[in-house]
Amino acid sequence: MRDRSIREWDDRPETDWWPDVGRDTHATIDLDAIAGNVAAVRRRAGPAQVIAVVKANAYGHGAVMVGRAALDAGAGMLAVATVDEGVELRESGITAPVLVMSAAGPHEVRDAFDAGLTLTLADAGQVGPAAAAARGVGRVGEVHLKVETGMNRYGAPVDAAVGVAATIRTADGLRLTGAYTHFADADGRDLTFTQEQVERFGAVRRQLVSASGDEPAPMFHLSNTAGSFRLDHVGVDAVRLGIGLYGLRPDDSVPLLDGMRPALAIRTRVAQVRRLSAGDTVSYGRTYTASGPETVALLPIGYADGLRRAVSGTGWVNLHGQPAPVRGRVCMDQVVVGVPVGIADGVAAGDPVTVFGADREDIAPSIEGVGRLAGTIGYEIATGIASRVPRWYLRDGRPVALLRSGRLTDVIDG
Ligand SMILES: *Cc1c(COP(=O)(O)O)cnc(C)c1O
Repeated sequence: MRDRSIREWDDRPETDWWPDVGRDTHATIDLDAIAGNVAAVRRRAGPAQVIAVVKANAYGHGAVMVGRAALDAGAGMLAVATVDEGVELRESGITAPVLVMSAAGPHEVRDAFDAGLTLTLADAGQVGPAAAAARGVGRVGEVHLKVETGMNRYGAPVDAAVGVAATIRTADGLRLTGAYTHFADADGRDLTFTQEQVERFGAVRRQLVSASGDEPAPMFHLSNTAGSFRLDHVGVDAVRLGIGLYGLRPDDSVPLLDGMRPALAIRTRVAQVRRLSAGDTVSYGRTYTASGPETVALLPIGYADGLRRAVSGTGWVNLHGQPAPVRGRVCMDQVVVGVPVGIADGVAAGDPVTVFGADREDIAPSIEGVGRLAGTIGYEIATGIASRVPRWYLRDGRPVALLRSGRLTDVIDG
């Protein structure tokens, strides 16, 4: 009965490709989208360079392939949260500068410098041990100074920052190559507080420039994605592009720049089709009761893959180009969706489904949309995509690499 081609079912015209290896439930990551997103921010923020933030496995997209794509598209540097994340990039052969943004613990510093990562310091007490670790591995440890201007997270207070910088400069084994701060509310409606942070950082920056004397001044960077879209970048050396790298918005009120689009979609195939009668219930807790005859489809994806349980009864997926509502509770590995009446007879096991990540909200939820449904933000949905979901990397709509069970392999497309 299935005479319609897969292509006809697919809502994403940029690729009619579906995997024929491994799990039906998979992510596609469009590397052309990643490249376009870097290019758009370079146009907006240039000559400031783009630091591509690939922490948390590139917000769930896979750090190695995204990191390579961002560097190919002209990003000057990568940033991660943890030393292990940086080491993973190095082990993949990436030689570009990699900044570790969070506070590294005392047992990580040596590994970081051994891998040639740039550490972020914020306290004079960190300088001696860091310098000793760098000397211990026989390298000059590169360091950025984090300045605390209003987030009240990691950073040196404004009035201590210049002193910490001087301690780093005079330490044997370290080199101060950057200084930065982080915005608390750059995606908010009112940028007054962000401007105050810019001014506080500017005061530190002026002192650091004059203190550098004949030596090159450190690179200065402030903006996250929202700041990179919304602020001027006069005299700024770089912006740290996180969520925007993936074509996602930091907040619903902050539109993407021209040329940017989401890179990731989660897709699967129907595993089974079932007819319900009035009174039949679906899934744990029997929270959904069919009010009449209804066709439902089973999908092999659950909350352990990253489809949040909070979308039970509220989420939907794209089945044959139509919204198919989640029926009952999302389980760990499976979910049941209602088949829209008009297509009930045409749905069969094996039919393709876009679960989320499509860039058209009328067809399937965006990552931000799933975040709204689940009472959280797109960041948490993206970073929550489990490692057991294979990631297929596409260029020109064709697969070039596969990240499966933590192993990255090239795909020779035949
Ligand atoms: C995560 C992070 C970023 C990126 O933020 P986005 O909002 O995703 O662009 C930038 N800077 C620091 C210090 C971060 O921790």
